[in-house]
Amino acid sequence: MKYTQAFIPTVKETPSDADTISQKLMLRAGFIRKLSSGVYVWLPLGLRILKKVEQIIREEMNRIGGQELLMPAIIPKELWEETGRWELYGEELYRIKDRSEREFCLGPTHEEVITDIARKEVRSYKQLPLMLYQFQTKFRDEIRPRFGVMRAKEFYMKDAYSFHATEEDAGDYYKKVFDAYSNICVRCGFKFCPVEATTGTIGGTFSHEFMVIADTGEEEIVSCDCGYGANVEKAECLRTEGRRTIGETKTIEEVNTPNLKTVEEVSKFLNEKPEKFIKTLIYLADEKPVMVLVRGDSEINEEKLKGFLKCNQLTLANAITVEKLTGAPVGFAGPVKLNDNNIEIYADFSVENIVNGISGANKKDYHLKNINIGRDYKPSEILDLRNIKSGDMCPKCEESHLKFSRGIEVGHTFKLGTKYSKSMNATFLDEKGIKNHFIMGCYGIGVSRIVAAAIEQSHDENGIIWNESLAPYKVVIIPISYDGKIKEVSDDIYKQLSEKTDVLLDDRNERAGVKFKDADLLGIPIRITISDKTIAENKIEIKYRTEKTPKLVDIGNLLDIIK
Ligand code: ATP
Ligand code: MG
Repeated sequence: MKYTQAFIPTVKETPSDADTISQKLMLRAGFIRKLSSGVYVWLPLGLRILKKVEQIIREEMNRIGGQELLMPAIIPKELWEETGRWELYGEELYRIKDRSEREFCLGPTHEEVITDIARKEVRSYKQLPLMLYQFQTKFRDEIRPRFGVMRAKEFYMKDAYSFHATEEDAGDYYKKVFDAYSNICVRCGFKFCPVEATTGTIGGTFSHEFMVIADTGEEEIVSCDCGYGANVEKAECLRTEGRRTIGETKTIEEVNTPNLKTVEEVSKFLNEKPEKFIKTLIYLADEKPVMVLVRGDSEINEEKLKGFLKCNQLTLANAITVEKLTGAPVGFAGPVKLNDNNIEIYADFSVENIVNGISGANKKDYHLKNINIGRDYKPSEILDLRNIKSGDMCPKCEESHLKFSRGIEVGHTFKLGTKYSKSMNATFLDEKGIKNHFIMGCYGIGVSRIVAAAIEQSHDENGIIWNESLAPYKVVIIPISYDGKIKEVSDDIYKQLSEKTDVLLDDRNERAGVKFKDADLLGIPIRITISDKTIAENKIEIKYRTEKTPKLVDIGNLLDIIK
């Protein structure tokens, strides 16, 4: 492509309402334009990148036996009612009506439609496994659209769905998709980490998020060199019981702590470390009160607690309930000498190591010192209930400290099981002629988010640094001035290279400095500069976007070098 014929509306000034580097650079480089909050136009250069990402994903999906289809964006309400998601999905769902008042949604994801196809078209186990995928614009009325195309209301996604006759096959296939997603990340040039993740509203039994490591990422993740990775809110905590050193246990002592309620206040007052404290919380799990204990320097992870208690609603008990159960106002609860002896006590692993610990005395303005698990209180269960925190060891290899970093979620894989096939009654006949529900998986990847994530991870003060696989053009040819002998050589090189790869010839009547700046901004991996001086020696200058200094090479060797 010749620059003068290309539509590349670059801008010098940093757009004022852009909130991330990638958004700024995408606007400046003329890849996108904002139409309205969370709604973007993909200009030709941006679309070239989007299409490159799409093609990488398509190749990896085809490699694991996926077949591409295209589902509609307009989905009838009835399908979404079958799974209950018409209500559950909440405000993110765009609900529309047609002229005869029939209701539809604009698809934010397509489990319902694909399950409907399977239940109508797939009859026998002989047709399984089946994996179907599509590239499509998705619609989500995000509460806070931001970060440009990374969290938009309309975005481009690849969503894939697989159907299996057995759990085992679904599990095996999940691994294949996991590998395909890893390949996609590798091919995009990402530093990435797949993490175990919570399943959110899509539901299901097992899921991984593929995180591109970037300081600007929305998600906080932990990882270890051994391969373990998890979202901070899902990370397991290592049980350290075997490693504790049990000291001499002392006799319980009641201490006056007037008006001192928090761990911080009491530890200061008693001159003890927060690690000595047994923090006591009272929750209502679907109305039933439970007491939960965690070490003073840690926090309860309510998702873990909820998962363990298998309750729908989990809330902290109010002051009246706390007083009724413990006999003391909020701030003085503890597991010893409870008013109500029937309350179940659950302790986090961190608590079992505390020797001669401190907790509330279940008496106003008093705490207890030297309380010991087993002797003074007996939790019904000791389990992992806390949030991971800095300094924690890896729960998998148990040898290294976990690394905390930030990530951008670009992909999400779910093992769904029969969640959708059951609610939509989608079945096939097995070898014995018996009806079974399909075992399903679903696998999404944000094509448009990948473009932005790539920029977040790889840029410098001058602009974008594309991985060769995603670059809108791989080579830019910059004639110092596009005339005479320089023009002749430039045209010749342009012609030769165009047969091999994507080349942009900057034929504009601009100063070389302007052309260099734009080449850097656009992030094109290889820059070839052609000037009188170098052609006189039958050489040209070649510079990689990742390197500071250019090299001189023989014109005759150029093709080999580019290859
Ligand atoms: P998030 O937690 O970021 O909201 P999600 O869990 O809602 O993501 P999925 O439903 O799993 O996302 O969608 C699959 C992929 O689609 C995500 O991994 C992400 O790359 C992309 N994606 C999701 N929401 C958006 C959005 N609003 N804008 C752009 N891409 C998105
Ligand atoms: Mg979301």
